[in-house]
Amino acid sequence: MANYLDNSVKFVPGVGEARSRLLEKELGIFTIGDLLRHYPFRYIDRTKIYPIGEVVEDMSASLVQLRARVTGVAYAGSGRKQRFSVYVSDSSGSAELTWFHGIKWIENRVEVGREYLIFGRPTFFRGELRMVHPELDLVEKALSRKANSGMQGIYPSTEKLSSSLGTKGFYNLICGAWSVAQEHIEEILPSALIKQYGLMPLREAMYNIHFPQSPEKLKQAERRLKFDEFLGVQLSIQALRSDRMARRNGFLFPRVGELFNSFFSERLPFALTNAQKRVIKEIRQDTVSGYQMNRLLQGDVGSGKTMVALMSMLLAVDNGFQACMMAPTEILARQHYATICRQTEGMNLRVAILTGSSKAAERRYALEGMASGEVNILIGTHALIEDRVQFNNLGFVVIDEQHRFGVEQRARLWTKNEQPPHILVMTATPIPRTLAMTMYGDLDVSVIDELPPGRKPIKTYHYTDSSRLRLWGFMRQQIMQGRQVYVVYPLIKESESMDYKDWEDGFESIVRDFPLPTYRVTVCHGKMKPQDKEESMRQFKEHEADILVATSVIEVGVDVPNATVMVIESAERFGLSQLHQLRGRVGRGGGESFCILMSGEKLSREARQRLQAMCETTDGFRLAELDMKLRGAGDINGTQQSGMAFDLKIANPTLDAELLQSAREAAIAVLEEDAQLQRAENVGLKMLRMRHAGRKRLDFSMIS
Ligand code: ADP
Ligand code: MG
Repeated sequence: MANYLDNSVKFVPGVGEARSRLLEKELGIFTIGDLLRHYPFRYIDRTKIYPIGEVVEDMSASLVQLRARVTGVAYAGSGRKQRFSVYVSDSSGSAELTWFHGIKWIENRVEVGREYLIFGRPTFFRGELRMVHPELDLVEKALSRKANSGMQGIYPSTEKLSSSLGTKGFYNLICGAWSVAQEHIEEILPSALIKQYGLMPLREAMYNIHFPQSPEKLKQAERRLKFDEFLGVQLSIQALRSDRMARRNGFLFPRVGELFNSFFSERLPFALTNAQKRVIKEIRQDTVSGYQMNRLLQGDVGSGKTMVALMSMLLAVDNGFQACMMAPTEILARQHYATICRQTEGMNLRVAILTGSSKAAERRYALEGMASGEVNILIGTHALIEDRVQFNNLGFVVIDEQHRFGVEQRARLWTKNEQPPHILVMTATPIPRTLAMTMYGDLDVSVIDELPPGRKPIKTYHYTDSSRLRLWGFMRQQIMQGRQVYVVYPLIKESESMDYKDWEDGFESIVRDFPLPTYRVTVCHGKMKPQDKEESMRQFKEHEADILVATSVIEVGVDVPNATVMVIESAERFGLSQLHQLRGRVGRGGGESFCILMSGEKLSREARQRLQAMCETTDGFRLAELDMKLRGAGDINGTQQSGMAFDLKIANPTLDAELLQSAREAAIAVLEEDAQLQRAENVGLKMLRMRHAGRKRLDFSMIS
């Protein structure tokens, strides 16, 4: 079915060559259809006008519209630093509008004394309302334009793109796309499905998602388009699953042998929790089934996933296979290696490590040992998926803290074998089963829903900067009781140097101002050499230091049971699941543990909700769901960060769980009748499936 919507986006009025390249690069929009499937993530009510005096700081996350008269203009700076300001006021107050570029264009359009509709994001400087690069329309002109429901879509964009294509500009492109494409939008779902699930027809849904005629129609449109996305994903997942089930090429681990048994009876340092036992049993069942295992192990921070991984790997080795375990950071890989070496010391087992900074001898042992079969278990970082690594007979792969690994990376590990190894993906970010399937494909899910005995819940408090003295008093008191403290600073890629500045200042103030100079402070951050990082982690672990001042490099998996206080600086800048991960660094020993979230006084509503949630619950499951809800759809980066395997533009597996369930049922029913989607009425479904299998299809089918 040749389709008009598959034509290049450059044919849309107002796009052209240069802009189409930008759309491709920034948003992955190649075709007219892609553009029409670039949905608004929010709508603003263009009939609503705020008096300037009613705009408050809490609104800075949203866009607002003002109606105000220009009282004056001013220029500042020169050359590239030039700035143009327009002062406006209404009867309730005044504001400053600022432009850093496009100054010529705007100065020709602004006339002192006239009234404008002003639309933009409010910011505040010394209590004064400001807007940077707002949209400006003469009032009489704007009012003469025909309005429908008054709702105008706001489209997800990127920083780069929005400097040349503002809110209104994007909206105009969509109008252009609609005008050329509307007649070509054909229904893709079989009419039986539309009827069964009470869905809005596609063209009407497309129209209303961009140009809502009413709130009710918008709701229906969203429902329809979400359903399509879920259905596309489910059609491709179900196909992968039946493929895997048809192949029956999983390695068999029938034997519970010497290593597993002697470890279990002689070396286990503690009794396994019931949850750990149950998961090991599930893995055993998988590995004698004849199918390739593809299992997601969820267990909150500190629930003891590593032990499950180790015992599963022993099982693999007992059956003549090699196993490997991939961790997201060097520190974590080294820690796993140390733990596993210690726990298996003296057993007939050879364990190696390979990371980016492995020295020649270590590297040689790992590479040669894996290739020859001499080494049984290899632990490492991304280095494990380098092409040079050859396995002799890899039977079992553990991926720790999966959210740091993309689907492609997992797939690369897989292709190292002719036959797929069993795969255990471990995560401390609990996700509902249906969500896991949508995000990571055809995975079975195990849950460790029980912490080892004797853990006390971590007490969490939110302090603002004004309570810093209290914080230090508290830290001192804990240290005097022989406890250790983490102090963590955020590190965000985009502004690394600024973050390091924060970190340095923090470190200096601790060293300088911390009341008792006899405390030993050590540091750890991403810019340090691996061996220095390791040395400072070692100092902290062995209690040669009382305080570890770190950036978020310690986030994942570090284990220091005597550390009972986690101080998180600028906590508002961390996401919920990251905060939860960090908090999980304490509460690992018997002592009562604390997490202190530090923030400035002024917080956005969302940040406040996050910090509050952290204080109220230690249930990672609840926090993960809340995180999804707060971040919501339209968060372009979020999709990449979470390693989402499928590209969902509008559907949100957490918020729309019910619809996801319906789509899943529908997919299963359709495939039961027509597994290859060859019937005439299913041709649209086939397209839908291809669209959502997308570019990742190849890699993805291998891992799943
Ligand atoms: P995570 O699930 O976060 O990876 P770990 O595997 O690092 O957790 O385990 C956290 C700590 O709990 C470790 O010190 C580990 O030795 C300990 N541990 C694991 N299982 C048990 C158990 N059944 N009983 C007591 N301690 C346990
Ligand atoms: Mg772990």
